[in-house]
Amino acid sequence: MGTQTIERPDVDIDTDETTDDDTPKFFHYVKKNKIAESAVMGNHVVALCGEVFPVTRSPKPGSPVCPKCKKIYEKLKKGE
Ligand SMILES: [Zn+2]
Repeated sequence: MGTQTIERPDVDIDTDETTDDDTPKFFHYVKKNKIAESAVMGNHVVALCGEVFPVTRSPKPGSPVCPKCKKIYEKLKKGE
């Protein structure tokens, strides 16, 4: 058997760098293939919550996770 079951959703996490300084920068969950596409095409990605933003850099430790993304991600993990 050459295939494996992937237990977790194929999503990665990225930061929303478009927010202003007076608002917290959230991590958003973004599908990995979208990040790859954005890296090549230079376009924006759509997070699980529907937030659209350009892929910039790796998330910084300690930053808050977008509550909406987290909720959707938890659902995906359960396979709903
Ligand atoms: Zn989000």
